[in-house]
Amino acid sequence: MSIWQIIRRLFPYVRPYRALVAATLLLTLLGALTAQVNPFVLRYTVDTVQRLLHEHRGLAAGFPLLLGISGILLGKEVISAALDFGQSYFGEEIRVYVSSALSQDAVRRILSYRLGFYAAGSNQTGRLQTRLDKGVDALMKLVQDLFIDIFPLLANAAVSLVVMFGASWRVGLVALAVLPVYFGLSYRQALQLSGVRRAMRHLKEDKNHGLLNLMDSAVVIKSFVREGYEEEKQNHLQQELRDTQLRMRKTNFLYNGLKSLVEQLGVVAVVVLTAYLVLGGELSIGAIMFNIMLFHNVSAPIQQLHRMYDELNEVHTYSEAFFEMLDAPGAVEPSGPVQPTHLRGTFELRHVDFSYPSGTQALYDVSLTIEAGRTTALMGLSGAGKSTVVNLLCKFYEPQGGEILLDGRPLTDYDTHALREHMGLVLQKNHIFKGTVEENIRYGNLHATAEQVRDAARQAHLHDQLALLPNGYQTDAQQLSGGQQQRIAIARLFLKNPPIIFLDEPTASLDAVTTEQIKASLDALKQGRTVVIISHSLSQIVDADRTYVLEQGRVVENGVHQELYEQGGAYRRIFDASARSLNLEKLAQTLTF
Ligand code: ADP
Repeated sequence: MSIWQIIRRLFPYVRPYRALVAATLLLTLLGALTAQVNPFVLRYTVDTVQRLLHEHRGLAAGFPLLLGISGILLGKEVISAALDFGQSYFGEEIRVYVSSALSQDAVRRILSYRLGFYAAGSNQTGRLQTRLDKGVDALMKLVQDLFIDIFPLLANAAVSLVVMFGASWRVGLVALAVLPVYFGLSYRQALQLSGVRRAMRHLKEDKNHGLLNLMDSAVVIKSFVREGYEEEKQNHLQQELRDTQLRMRKTNFLYNGLKSLVEQLGVVAVVVLTAYLVLGGELSIGAIMFNIMLFHNVSAPIQQLHRMYDELNEVHTYSEAFFEMLDAPGAVEPSGPVQPTHLRGTFELRHVDFSYPSGTQALYDVSLTIEAGRTTALMGLSGAGKSTVVNLLCKFYEPQGGEILLDGRPLTDYDTHALREHMGLVLQKNHIFKGTVEENIRYGNLHATAEQVRDAARQAHLHDQLALLPNGYQTDAQQLSGGQQQRIAIARLFLKNPPIIFLDEPTASLDAVTTEQIKASLDALKQGRTVVIISHSLSQIVDADRTYVLEQGRVVENGVHQELYEQGGAYRRIFDASARSLNLEKLAQTLTF
């Protein structure tokens, strides 16, 4: 992405504030013009004072002059301060508005991305966050540089140069001669830094990501006593970051020093040349002051320009990454035109092949039917592809081969959001947001009344348990037990009330008593809905109206419990192994039902 393309991408964000931009530009331009007052006043002062001295008229005649000059300079400073205030304030307003619009747009875009986007290595949480923060910061600099600083600065330098040429073309030429050297140095500096900056960005992202990971993995790190190993990994990154930083600083110091030198040489050249012209009688003595100040008016903005030039390169790297994130090709979830009002929930998979973006092929030629209003179980060893089937049914991913129909229509035809309004998902471990139990349940229907929330909690057998807690529904949901969190997830679905429900090992991480209680809530939830359940729990499998057995991404058997059991194939093997793991023989000796 070239810097021009980046600027063009910024325009839509700045356009709503064009009146502010115009006001800021005008104020800064006026500021630049008032900056030219000093050289003129000082030249006039020096020349007049010199003339008065020459005429031996001294203080008496000079007094009105001093009064007049003070008035003009003071007035100019007051105007300058007011302009400065207005310019800074409007500039800040533009930056703040544009930056919040950019951040909000990024958040909206990221939320619209498909699941595969988050899984890609370059998009892990820490990296995305760095890219977003740094990107917005960088673009703000760009807004500041382009829309607020650059034109008035150029105008300031240009006006000063013109005035210098007007006073003496030779002095003007000297001032002009310095500029290409200055630009040349800035350009070389930028070239040397561009690769280093990109490396810095990657290292910083790695470091942020690494730190987040450390916190996530604290328990494992400590239990394996791998603190030293992890520290060494971080240390390695830190060293690279340090070396890169030092290299960048060294280059900057060298070039900034050279540029200062060139500027000082310019000042010396202007002084010497002007003094020569004054001695030759071509210019008045006031011209020495006049030219030095004007040269300063030329070089000061140019100093700023080099800063901008520098910044532009940095901005380039970060904003490129920011817009790449916004434009991630194929990242936005696909959606179709059909807005379903009533879905029955008959799914048909026909010869479906699917590989994850990482390349792992998870499903091979899978054909299966999920009947509306019935419970269909998916059974198989771990890694067989059961969750993948659910991922495809929820449209989290699209198959590469074959097709999926829902109520006779390709799944791709449906509007994705409208489709998911008709679906509910309970996983082995459900996400509980930071907040109260009530807020977490209400996620199922943001407009639910307190009474509806309580009803849902009752249906999920959570209400009575909450009544025992001092804060009841206002308890921090993340502090609840695994079983209670599972009930929150079920209560959410009661509130959402979708006709299609996917249960992916909903009781796998719970103890036996809780499993039995949750099973009762799940049975209530399953009433009158299309249900797809993945479970290792035999009691839940035997309840299913139809079971599909998957092995290494293929459907190997399907049927009802008794039929499958009698076939003596994969179902029987898994079923028997599960039963054996319960040690049924011994249990039978002890149990009295
Ligand atoms: P099951 O639910 O039967 O345990 P999955 O459907 O989760 O199995 O996994 C099927 C295969 O797909 C496995 O080989 C697994 O490693 C792979 N897989 C699952 N999820 C992902 C993912 N997000 N990215 C890449 N591969 C995945």
